Amino acid sequence: MAAAAAGMLGLQSEALAQTYSKATRGMPALKITNVKVIATCPQSGNYVVLKVETSEPGLYGVGSATLTTRGAAVITSITEFLAPFALGRDPANIEDLWQTAYVSSYWRNGPVLNGALCGLDEALWDIKAKRAKVPLYELLGGKSRFAITTYCHADGKTVEETSENVSKFVEAGWKHVRIQLGGYGSPMLGQTPDFRAAGFGLPSDGYQDNQPYVKGTLKLFEHIRKVHGDDLELLHDMHERIEPIEAVNLVKALQQYRLFWAEDPLSPEQMGYFKMMREQCSTPIAMGELFSHPMEWISLISDRLIDFIRVGFNHVGGITPGLKIARLAEAFGVRTGWHGPGNIDPINHAAQGHVDLTIPNFGIQEDVDLAWGKVIQEVFPGCPQMKKGYMYLNEAPGIGVDIDEKLAAKYPFKAFPEGTGFRFPIRKADGTQIRP
Ligand code: MG
Repeated sequence: MAAAAAGMLGLQSEALAQTYSKATRGMPALKITNVKVIATCPQSGNYVVLKVETSEPGLYGVGSATLTTRGAAVITSITEFLAPFALGRDPANIEDLWQTAYVSSYWRNGPVLNGALCGLDEALWDIKAKRAKVPLYELLGGKSRFAITTYCHADGKTVEETSENVSKFVEAGWKHVRIQLGGYGSPMLGQTPDFRAAGFGLPSDGYQDNQPYVKGTLKLFEHIRKVHGDDLELLHDMHERIEPIEAVNLVKALQQYRLFWAEDPLSPEQMGYFKMMREQCSTPIAMGELFSHPMEWISLISDRLIDFIRVGFNHVGGITPGLKIARLAEAFGVRTGWHGPGNIDPINHAAQGHVDLTIPNFGIQEDVDLAWGKVIQEVFPGCPQMKKGYMYLNEAPGIGVDIDEKLAAKYPFKAFPEGTGFRFPIRKADGTQIRP
C-alpha cells in the first residue's frame, strides 16, 4: 500500500511514503531529537557545523554555521536559542522551520543569526535529500551543467610575479583567474606609513595608500592582457577599500581590459554610488559577500545595478533564501557568484554547489582547491573536488559532505589570541581607518 502511495505521489521510496502518510494523519512522522554543534579548526580557519539528529535511527543532517570572524557568537546562538526552538519539530517542513526560526528572535538577520539559521537549514535539506536517496541537486530540479565553473586566485608582489602565478593556473586548466597585486588593495604599494612613526594605532595595523593601489592595478591588467592575451577571463576584488569616487574611476578605467567582473567596488554603506558607476561604464560588477539583510540585495538586483550577486549562504541563512535570491536574480538577468573562500567550510561549499548545478543563471564559483589541505578532506569526508577549473560534487544522497566528529575533536576551535575573530584595522598614512 505504501509502495502504491509512493507511486501516486511520485515519491522516491517506500520509506518516504510511509513517513508522509503518517504525517497526513496528524502525527509528526519524524522529529528533531538533537541539535549539536561541532566546532573545529582543522587547518587555519575556525569552522562551525550544526548537526540535526532525528527520531529515525541513523538519519541526520549537517549544515554549515561557519562565521569566520564571530564563530563563538554563532555557537551561542545555536546552543542557547536555535537548538531548543527546533527540538521536537518535523525536519521535513523546511520552509516552515526556516520562517518560524527566522522570526523567533523577533530582531532578525545579521551574520550571527543567519549563520546559525544556515546551519539548521542546510542540515534539513541534507536530511530531505538523504530520505529521498538522491544528491540534493536532484531535489532542486536536476543539472543544468555537467560541473561547476570556478575561478582561482593569482596574487603577486609584482606584476611579473602575478603573471607567473596566472601561468600556473592556466597550465592547470583554469579559464577564469582573479588577479591581485599584493593581495587585497595592495597595502604594500604605498610609502612608509606616517601613523606608525607617530605611534598611532598598533604596529600590527595594516596600511594602504589608495592611488598606488589604483595605478598598480591598472598596470597589472595592462601587463596580464599583454602577456596572456584577450581570451583569458579576468576577475579582480576591490574589497571596498578605496573612496567611492575613486572606485567609479577605477571600474571605468578597467573597462578596456574586458573584465569578467570587478568585485566589491563599494562598501555596503556606499551602495548609492552603483547607479553612478553603471551610468558611466559597463564593466561587470559582482557584489554582496557582506550582505545579510534582504534589503541589501533586492533593489541592486531589480534595478540591474550589478551583474553577479555574491552573497554566501552562511551569511544569508542557508539554501532556502539562497534559492529565492537566485530566482529573483534570474528574472533580472543577474548571475550568481556565491562567496566561497577557504575560510568557509566544505559543507557550505557543497550546498552552494548543488544550487550552482541546477539554476539557469549560475555565473561562477570561487575555487577552494588550494586552500583545502589533506586534513580538511579527512575531517570532512566527501569534499567537493577540483579538476581543470571545474568543481565536482560528491554524488552521495544529501549534500554529500559529512564531518568526522572524532577527527574534528583533534583540531579544536581556536579562541583568542590564536584565533583572533576579528580583522586588524587598515589605515591611511595619517592613521584614518579604511574599510577592510
Ligand atoms: Mg570579495
